[in-house]
Amino acid sequence: MMKAIFLDKDGTLIDDLPYNVEQRRITLCPGVGSGLRLLARLDYKLFVVSNQDGVAHGYFCEQDVEGVAHRLTELLFRERLNLEGFYYCPHHPDGSVAAYARECNCRKPKPGMLLQAAHDHGIDLRASWMIGDILHDVEAGNRAGCRTLLIDNGNETEWRLGPRRIPTRMAPDLYAAAVLIAEEDKVPR
Ligand SMILES: [Mg+2]
Ligand SMILES: [Zn+2]
Repeated sequence: MMKAIFLDKDGTLIDDLPYNVEQRRITLCPGVGSGLRLLARLDYKLFVVSNQDGVAHGYFCEQDVEGVAHRLTELLFRERLNLEGFYYCPHHPDGSVAAYARECNCRKPKPGMLLQAAHDHGIDLRASWMIGDILHDVEAGNRAGCRTLLIDNGNETEWRLGPRRIPTRMAPDLYAAAVLIAEEDKVPR
């Protein structure tokens, strides 16, 4: 079975410009290339799991999100990295676009995107990690049965803790995250 690194997009993989879909303004965070190459060498496949409620709010459409996915794939390819899958949630319960204004099972902190990816690709969730910059990412990963790593870069501001919101490890950037995951892999579970 495949093991995966599930990656939050905004603030984890790319610099967080809220609701930006303009491709030329999308840039990778420091440590992403080297960190993900280390993880790829450990046989992890890379997946993005991203809340894109801008669709439900009418700020942009699904086609724009596909454009962002394309740009991200290209940026990672230039870093000699292969993105295995890109999952996103276009919903929000208070959205203004009727088709997307609803509760769903994919919006983080729910684990739906990870479960869907596991189903589509035959992923062993217990051998996989979720990496994100807020505790909603951590909760989604924990609920899916993954280990979790919080990039502690100041983007989490509420720190609403709870039993499902404790990360396995914390790191300041993606390279440091990859080093910790490589260490954890050496410990028998
Ligand atoms: Mg984020
Ligand atoms: Zn959703």
